[in-house]
Amino acid sequence: MTSEIKSVVVTGGASGIGFDIAGVLHARGWQVHLLDLKRESLDAACDKLGIPHDRGHNANVVDEDAVDALLQSVAQHAQLGAVVNCAGIGQDTPAIDMTVEDFRRIIDVNLTGTFIVARAAARYWLANTLPGAIVNIGSVSGLTGNKGRASYGSSKAAVSHLTRILCTEWGSDNIRINTVAPGAVNTPLTDLHHTPDVRQQWHERIPQKRYGTTREIANAVAFLISDEASYINGQTLAVDGGFTTA
Ligand code: NAD
Repeated sequence: MTSEIKSVVVTGGASGIGFDIAGVLHARGWQVHLLDLKRESLDAACDKLGIPHDRGHNANVVDEDAVDALLQSVAQHAQLGAVVNCAGIGQDTPAIDMTVEDFRRIIDVNLTGTFIVARAAARYWLANTLPGAIVNIGSVSGLTGNKGRASYGSSKAAVSHLTRILCTEWGSDNIRINTVAPGAVNTPLTDLHHTPDVRQQWHERIPQKRYGTTREIANAVAFLISDEASYINGQTLAVDGGFTTA
């Protein structure tokens, strides 16, 4: 990063992995903005980070007008340098029992929302001839076939593929886009969906025999948006204790 302070928007930044990404980027000197659904959670997250409440933006990633307006307004405070697409929802349901409504809802937030935010940032960078970096949060469920993840895993596999495609479209304009695919990480999302049996199954399949921490994911994201990763583009980096190699 240059000495000029740049802003970064972290979607899903009020909780879990997104919150820790925001913390690590704040500590590294970025002007951090959070985008999330609930005002109270945003205010609480801003308080914990020690940043003003007006850096917490109440919006839904699938609302393209709201996302476009938000990125424009953030860029007026400090040059937009990066966005991190961390907002996501999941469901652990056998495909046979999954409703089409639930299938679509997960694809919409995880995939379409990622597209909407990435496109809004790229439009800003292209219009102003500025460089930019995007990191999407995928999942090992998008890299391996895990039972119960028909919609979630498909949405995350598509995020990795979208990353490759957008890299080919925007790479020559100095915009980098990569995906971090976390393995199992202790967060409110896994607290909700991982029963003791599910946890036991994950532990058995992870070479490092433990869940990851939000900090381990955040460190990988911070590296990928930094200039240290200036020639890394279109990639998916699994941060998973070896899960996808086992
Ligand atoms: P979390 O539930 O703690 O946080 C997700 C945040 O996203 C919440 O604050 C939520 O309000 C926000 N969000 C959801 N839908 C949104 C929308 N439409 N618009 C704006 N914000 C929205 O979850 P987490 O475990 O921290 O997961 C964060 C990301 O990491 C997700 O994309 C998830 O799929 C991915 N991931 C998590 C794990 C894990 O083990 N926790 C593993 C792999 C990938």
